[in-house]
Amino acid sequence: MLLFGVAACLWGCTPPVHEDAPPVPNEPSTLPRLRVLGTAQDGGFPHAACSCDRCELARSDPRTERLVASIALIASDGRVFLVDATPDIRRQLDRLRDLKPGTGRVDRAPVDGVFLTHAHLGHYTGLGFLGFEAIHAQEIPLYATPRMVDFLSSNGPWSQLVDLRNVVPVKLTPGEPLVLDEQLSVTAFRVPHRDEFADTVGYLFAGPQRRVFYVPDTDGWEHWETPLEEWLERQEVDVAIVDGTFFSMDELPGRDVAAIGHPHVIDTIERLREKVSAGSLRVFFTHFNHSNPVLDADGERRRQIEAAGFAVLDDGLELPL
Ligand SMILES: [Zn+2]
Ligand SMILES: [Zn+2]
Ligand SMILES: [Zn+2]
Repeated sequence: MLLFGVAACLWGCTPPVHEDAPPVPNEPSTLPRLRVLGTAQDGGFPHAACSCDRCELARSDPRTERLVASIALIASDGRVFLVDATPDIRRQLDRLRDLKPGTGRVDRAPVDGVFLTHAHLGHYTGLGFLGFEAIHAQEIPLYATPRMVDFLSSNGPWSQLVDLRNVVPVKLTPGEPLVLDEQLSVTAFRVPHRDEFADTVGYLFAGPQRRVFYVPDTDGWEHWETPLEEWLERQEVDVAIVDGTFFSMDELPGRDVAAIGHPHVIDTIERLREKVSAGSLRVFFTHFNHSNPVLDADGERRRQIEAAGFAVLDDGLELPL
């Protein structure tokens, strides 16, 4: 198994500090890779309508803001796939412009495909920008579970995207790899979560050097049929990018964090600490709620998780596969 340090931090984000992480290998640019386009929970950071100190700071200092959780999957032949279509999709497409030469007008195919995790605000509503009122995209493959595809195809306004062929749904079978080329495959895995409209998946991206599991939203690990640590081992995962919505139970005065779901960062650390210290797994947290103290760049909580060998995922990072 191979490990890596920080590959790149674009757009002025704060680079994560992993003082004892191995140096960045000098890898050829032909490797497929992931680019982090956003790391905030669905409500954004600064969070909609919130005037807490952290959100106000993010408003006044754009270096500390975060877009809604999303990553781009970049194949070695230059094709680009979005993982989730967030309410911040306009700015996230801008963050991919270096990969595609502009044509001087609207690009009807700004990405080569979109993979969706589930039907919650932060993960699919950006699809609207692919539609008639905006990009009016042309036949972008839309990869999702059969239940998610059925939900989108039979409910407006999403059904219009399908009817106008702005997107072409492709049903994924969870557990079965979709081979994008000889260097890259994507496999959806069903995960437990609030499934009001459809179901929820995480994605395993397998490249020539690494297998990265991305699960931005899930119920607590105790709801997984197979314990997380065992599941990661079985799937030979080298890097896990996991739901870090809340740091701990006492985070949202007036709301029951347990009822909202999500594993807590401190529980994930306990569960995976051994593998991380042994060097067989790298773990990044993402999908941060504005209440999460790891958002404070120099805060004690961030230092605490980094001291345990874990990392806060930052917008702009690139991870080679
Ligand atoms: Zn979410
Ligand atoms: Zn806030
Ligand atoms: Zn969700």
